[in-house]
Amino acid sequence: MRLSELELSNQYASLGEPFGQFIQPKPFEHPHLVHINPAGAALLGLNPGRDSAQTWAEYGCGARLFRGSRPFAMKYAGHQFGVYNPELGDGRGLLLGEARGIHGERWDLHLKGAGKTPYSRFGDGRAVLRSTIREYLCSEAMHALGIASTRALCIIGSDEPVVREKIESGAMLIRLARTHIRFGHFEHFFYTGQHEALEQLVHFTCAEQLPQTADLSVAEKAAAILEMAMKRSARLVAQWQAAGFAHGVLNTDNMSIIGDTFDYGPYGFLDDYEPGFICNHSDHTGRYAFERQPGVVLWNLNALGHALSGLLTREAIVETLQRFEPLLVQHYSGLMRARLGFEQPGADDDRLCAQLLKLLEDASADYPAFFRRLSRYSPGEGAPAFSDLFGAEQQAPLADWLQRYDTRLKAEPRPDAERQQAMLRTNPKFILRNFLAQRVIDAAEGGDFAPLDRFMSLLQAPFDEHSGNDEWAALPGTAQKHLPISCSS
Ligand code: AMP
Ligand code: MG
Ligand code: MG
Repeated sequence: MRLSELELSNQYASLGEPFGQFIQPKPFEHPHLVHINPAGAALLGLNPGRDSAQTWAEYGCGARLFRGSRPFAMKYAGHQFGVYNPELGDGRGLLLGEARGIHGERWDLHLKGAGKTPYSRFGDGRAVLRSTIREYLCSEAMHALGIASTRALCIIGSDEPVVREKIESGAMLIRLARTHIRFGHFEHFFYTGQHEALEQLVHFTCAEQLPQTADLSVAEKAAAILEMAMKRSARLVAQWQAAGFAHGVLNTDNMSIIGDTFDYGPYGFLDDYEPGFICNHSDHTGRYAFERQPGVVLWNLNALGHALSGLLTREAIVETLQRFEPLLVQHYSGLMRARLGFEQPGADDDRLCAQLLKLLEDASADYPAFFRRLSRYSPGEGAPAFSDLFGAEQQAPLADWLQRYDTRLKAEPRPDAERQQAMLRTNPKFILRNFLAQRVIDAAEGGDFAPLDRFMSLLQAPFDEHSGNDEWAALPGTAQKHLPISCSS
């Protein structure tokens, strides 16, 4: 299908005024195509080869609209760093409409960087090439790791200067998501006392995401939404912790109601295993530090529960939220067991895992590289297999741990080779480390998009070896760790 054949509907926008406003995008004067994600295009049945780069650039910067599109800025609010902010909304992005995917599923198309809206506050309504590349790469990397995420269709660049900490160039991204409804949407209607609109939002969310609730009352639907958000968020944050991903800005307006990883800003994947890792340079108190994510997600769920408290009893909210932690722990244990290569749960697995994490922390050892290396380990090999990841003083505790690991592996029914194959499909080789993202961004800012194309395709199949591409699986040097990544985007 060509771009001109894609047909959008406007179900959310049809809710009308209290939910947002119809706004036209402000296109770039000289847009150029930066990149098309073939996987994103395929989701919509688009065939990138059938349109010119110029046509993509025009659709991707809002100069041309998809059939049926009525761009809409969504109104929402949210807790930012724990403080309620009523003034939020799509300040630099527009919902272009909803498309049907090739399997009949719905996809929102959202144009990020499309210009000012009534919710822009002091912002310019723009996004920069750097931040669109960061979102583009990470949303696809997360998907390839099996972690629920929004997706991306394309990036369009421009010669329009945009002022951030320095002058950068403006860019737009078409984001694909199964929904753009955030926790903050519910908070907005609750705190402004718009009960009818809140109920409408509950019905809308259920019609789109929970069709099995069609015959339920509005209160029952609200309970189903909280249940969905709780379960999916528990699974999501367990996956983040197991993968070593820090989101960076877990405000309630960046929490998707369906539990997608949503709104990529100053995120970071762990290099060294450092539980207190703060990826967001602007997060001075470490509210969103890596190890605090589970607690913060529960805090956010509590804010969602509060926003639904006109429809749900306090007891019902508490009962739902109380199931978050056990679910999270259950998911996390299962994920770490898989990373360690254990097919069957063992009584002592959580302890063995905790001991390993302590060891990695003490040694400042690289988290993803350790697990990739472990995927090729055979019992008895001992510490030398990891010597370059651990300092001299950590060799003895590592050898101790490996002895316990060897003993544990004896209880595994799978042959070594089979276990190793499974671990290589669980412990990725290619990680979206910030210094590698920066390498891609530096090249793109100089007009070279080849590294973007290359790294994207590696991240979309991160478990494969891709021989000849080891520069993209390199570990950071000391100066390349802890790059300051700020909220500014
Ligand atoms: P974020 O930090 O991207 O989650 O955005 C928080 C809020 O600020 C949202 O309401 C955004 O729409 C808005 N915002 C962020 N950057 C800009 C910008 N450059 N122009 C206008 N609004 C923005
Ligand atoms: Mg946001
Ligand atoms: Mg180290």
